[in-house]
Amino acid sequence: MSQEDTALVLFSGGQDSSTCLAWAVDNFARVETVGFDYGQRHSVELDCRMEVLSAVRRAFPAWNRKLGDDHLHAIPVLGNISETALTRDTEIVFAEGGLPNTFVPGRNLIFLTLAAAIAYRRGIRHIIAGVGEVDYSGYPDCREDSISSMEDALNIGMESDFILHTPLMHLDKTAIWHLADHIGGPELTDIIIEYSHTCYLGDRNTRHDWGYGCGHCPACALRAAGHEGFIEQTVKADKATE
Ligand code: ZN
Repeated sequence: MSQEDTALVLFSGGQDSSTCLAWAVDNFARVETVGFDYGQRHSVELDCRMEVLSAVRRAFPAWNRKLGDDHLHAIPVLGNISETALTRDTEIVFAEGGLPNTFVPGRNLIFLTLAAAIAYRRGIRHIIAGVGEVDYSGYPDCREDSISSMEDALNIGMESDFILHTPLMHLDKTAIWHLADHIGGPELTDIIIEYSHTCYLGDRNTRHDWGYGCGHCPACALRAAGHEGFIEQTVKADKATE
């Protein structure tokens, strides 16, 4: 079975992977999604991923027709072996080396390996991940060199011809808002604001113009600043065309 024009998106329900989902349906004939339950501190992330998926399906019938299976897999071992602020109830701090303690060592490498195993089984060649080098607090497994090495390793180790796509690799958060707007317009950015989840503390009660979150954790700060830049640039562009 070969699905040359099918893509598998690593979809967590956050802003970045929601934008990747839109990028995928915009670029491929069929799109499947995969998510992992690894003992995140807050299950809101997993609830949000279902809400984003169903909101996208409702708002974009053409995309709905392209969307195939959603795969959700529990990998509690990742939480068991990680002492990090994403899986334990500890405060988010930055270590001396610069990496925040939200860093789960090798998390994206594990996700990509599992996604490739699913893609292999389903004959899917294209794998899409919303990782990037710009705004990720320096997570080394989000960088381009990690991803291209991973692509090589997966292709050698599975005797395959996978292509790992990372459409957000060189985009900052403002550019990611622009990309979502470019692909799906305000309908899509509204879905991302309302349903996608970014906050490390799992706050779904405090609503800002950029979405829900505590407003103070590093993830909220990035998302808020990115959205502010997006609104400023959009207003400027509108004024220029008046
Ligand atoms: Zn937050």
